[in-house]
Amino acid sequence: YGPSYVRAIAPYIAGKPISEVAREFGLDEARIVKLASNENPLGMPPSAQTAVQRAIADLGRYPDSNGFDLKTALAARYGVGEDWITLGNGSNDILELAAHALLEHDQSVVFAQYSFAVYALATQGVGARAIVVPAKAYGHDLDAMLAAIEDDTRLVFVANPNNPTGTFVPGEQMEAFLKKVPSHVVVVLDEAYTEYLDASQRYDSIEWTRRYPNLLVSRTFSKAYGLAGLRVGFAIAQPQLTDLLNRLRQPFNVNSLAQAAALAALGDRAFLEKSAKLNSAGYKTLTAAFDALGLEYVPSHGNFVLVRVGDDDGAGARVNIGLLKEGVIVRPVGNYGLPQWLRVTIGLPEENETFVAALRRVLGRA
Ligand code: PMP
Repeated sequence: YGPSYVRAIAPYIAGKPISEVAREFGLDEARIVKLASNENPLGMPPSAQTAVQRAIADLGRYPDSNGFDLKTALAARYGVGEDWITLGNGSNDILELAAHALLEHDQSVVFAQYSFAVYALATQGVGARAIVVPAKAYGHDLDAMLAAIEDDTRLVFVANPNNPTGTFVPGEQMEAFLKKVPSHVVVVLDEAYTEYLDASQRYDSIEWTRRYPNLLVSRTFSKAYGLAGLRVGFAIAQPQLTDLLNRLRQPFNVNSLAQAAALAALGDRAFLEKSAKLNSAGYKTLTAAFDALGLEYVPSHGNFVLVRVGDDDGAGARVNIGLLKEGVIVRPVGNYGLPQWLRVTIGLPEENETFVAALRRVLGRA
């Protein structure tokens, strides 16, 4: 059944849940450490938990279709009108909405090798054509991406920082790129990990949306805000573009608990700061361990690190199985064309230690 471009899709591979790994490897669930999906190891902020508890009373009603309270807060935070905001069921929803809204069958989309898997899925899902631009030092080669734009290109996806490699393009380079992208091509700037950037690396992409009508900035509550399970993301772009996405959006795409939690988390700056601090300390722990083991890694600007665990193309899968047997779930990235690497999410200090100890054992370096 179905069109050939749908049958050709290779499904998204998500991190295995703890219960499945426990059953498959005969392990105690409580002892399993999951560092596979770039989640916030602190979990959901207490402020959001309180908001969810309150919102439960209203679950007999539909969610607010337009997300009035959350959009009002986001508009105030970012200094834009509510008509500049699209809410999504996670930012994946935003990425898909952009593909649905902007692409016709057989038009093309430009994105980088080793960039987020959903770009290919969203492209294929509408029967569009992917132009995958070779990575430079595991990150985006913006000049090559510019050169790759064809007459029928309507969309460019850029992740900054990028997943799964953690690479980062400085603001000046990103803006120089935006200046050169033809105005009929929309750039989706996916900033899922932006809250983890050092203050010195921050740039104001929301300000850019005022100057570039073809820019859509995508953000999420799944990472630093700690709400991955609730599924909330949002996009900021000029009203004309925002209107297109909102026409296609499911009327109740963000549920009531998610809206309430996101509103609370948005106001909880202390939690964001705590998350970012924990992350940079964890990054130091992990990279020091990789250095000690002589393992290559890609310097990361997100809440995860891509590490090369062997020289042969079976290495990632083999070490991954070894880690699973030890009760540690990380992410193999063979599907990204990185079979020698694993992506590990930065966890709590004790989780990082458990992972490092398990990795040493699996590599025979204990
Ligand atoms: N963009 C990037 C770069 C990501 O890594 C992720 C999460 N893996 C997402 C978007 C989507 O996250 P969510 O749908 O939870 O917002």
